[in-house]
Amino acid sequence: MEKTVQLYEGKAKKVYATSDENLCIVSYKDDATAFNGLKKGTIVGKGVVNNRMTNMLMQLLEKKGVPTHFVEELNDRETVVKKVKIVALEVIIRNVSAGSFAKHYGVEEGIVFDEPTIEFSYKNDDLGDPLLNEYHALALKVATREEIDTIKKYAFKINEVLKDYFLALGVRLIDFKLEFGKTADGKIVLADEISPDTCRFWDAKTGEKLDKDRFRRDMGGVEDAYKEIFKRVTQGE
Ligand code: ADP
Ligand code: UDP
Repeated sequence: MEKTVQLYEGKAKKVYATSDENLCIVSYKDDATAFNGLKKGTIVGKGVVNNRMTNMLMQLLEKKGVPTHFVEELNDRETVVKKVKIVALEVIIRNVSAGSFAKHYGVEEGIVFDEPTIEFSYKNDDLGDPLLNEYHALALKVATREEIDTIKKYAFKINEVLKDYFLALGVRLIDFKLEFGKTADGKIVLADEISPDTCRFWDAKTGEKLDKDRFRRDMGGVEDAYKEIFKRVTQGE
């Protein structure tokens, strides 16, 4: 499978067309951004970690009954995926308070929830990805009621699978962001990535952050954190 034209360059990945109209190739960069692109930098080796980790997790999720866009890993940074129409929602699941949740509701980070929460934001960089509820999503025709129900069902299932998976590797899954897409035949599948860019991972013993918060918050040790979480995931294979 060969890349043809570049369809899109995002903040962390490039997307290319292929000779098959139903497939594209995603290429993961080392570029890092935070705060809707305001903070920019490079995390050396991030593209490799995010590509390989996403693919391993998507294959695990497929086995557990969650359909994904994954088709074939080509090399360290590039993967063939099903071309989808991305549903313009960022789906965020939280198990523990952190980040914007702690800020919005004026609580400390680290409060363990009795049940996971779900929230949606409207995937629109120009508007700063504003929060929205299911009714807003329906009003904006971002998805149908049935599609939203499917997305919620998959998102909670993904949380159950990944929470257990990471705990066995000595890592707490605090929160994460998912994107879903619609294939040519109208099926909802998990798309985009699952990586330290899109999840919060805390070491179960030390509480050390093993994710992009080290970059967002200028904590140092960013590359090492990506390497460490990747090492655990590859050990768990
Ligand atoms: P951003 O657009 O936020 O800067 P990226 O740099 O990660 O993000 O760019 C990748 C883009 O590709 C995202 O907009 C994402 O929604 C989109 N995408 C992810 N998976 C697929 C897919 N299977 N088919 C088409 N587009 C996809
Ligand atoms: N997240 C993401 N992309 C976004 C916003 C959030 O991948 O555009 C992830 C983030 O890495 C974290 C979770 O979603 O794992 C919840 O993020 P939060 O709402 O707390 O926002 P943040 O503190 O990152 O601004």
